[in-house]
Amino acid sequence: MRRAAPQRRLLHGIAAADGSRWQWAFLEQVHGSVIWRIPQPPGAPRVCVGDGLMTATPGRLLAVRTADCVPVLLADPQHRVVAAIHAGWRGTVQRVVEKAVGELRRQFGVQPTALRAAIGPRIGACCYRVGGEVVEAFRAQFDYAEELFQPAEPDPVQSRYPMLFMTGAPPGHPYDPRWNPDRPVTLDLAAANRRQLLAAGVPAGQIEVLPYCTYCRPRMFYSFRREGAAAGRMAAWIGIRKTLQRPASNRFGR
Ligand SMILES: [Zn+2]
Repeated sequence: MRRAAPQRRLLHGIAAADGSRWQWAFLEQVHGSVIWRIPQPPGAPRVCVGDGLMTATPGRLLAVRTADCVPVLLADPQHRVVAAIHAGWRGTVQRVVEKAVGELRRQFGVQPTALRAAIGPRIGACCYRVGGEVVEAFRAQFDYAEELFQPAEPDPVQSRYPMLFMTGAPPGHPYDPRWNPDRPVTLDLAAANRRQLLAAGVPAGQIEVLPYCTYCRPRMFYSFRREGAAAGRMAAWIGIRKTLQRPASNRFGR
């Protein structure tokens, strides 16, 4: 668990704001679906390799880092259990968010109907062009996959030089209007993860999807697609205060 200066500064900022002491929990993210419970039992590996963290222990700040992937935060405010999940396209195909809701139920007795969910800034359906590998992976996993794709805006190079892109379907393969290399599509990763929350039993009214695309908003967000491997990372974090300053119903009630 690295502690870079910005993370320390954020902890100081939070501590200054509410007088509490927090301890970070980070992941070594691998685009999988392993979810860890914090704190780890004594003797456990120091680094959590996986893509989800959950806790019922106050004072722990669970963080996931993203720069186009989807950060998902979950909370059962009444029973004071929280989770943070990192879901890129591979994690989404592995249903990491659906699995997290199941783990919260199994390990903490959390009912999905009690969960509040936030889906954070990520590359949006406006910008996230995907190729055949991604399309096929989603089709293989989700019967609603087609709802997650939409035709991409024409590529400017392709529009200018259409002759370069004139390739027909190979013999014996019918033309598929949904996807082929000449007709790119975009993927709505936020919608995909919202579907998983709904499938796991989280009520629609308790799922908030932030309307931000990381690729479109260079002044607000880092984007791996836009900036390449050197792009910075945003942290999405959630924790449980050590002491309630006001009754739970007032702090979290709608
Ligand atoms: Zn966008």
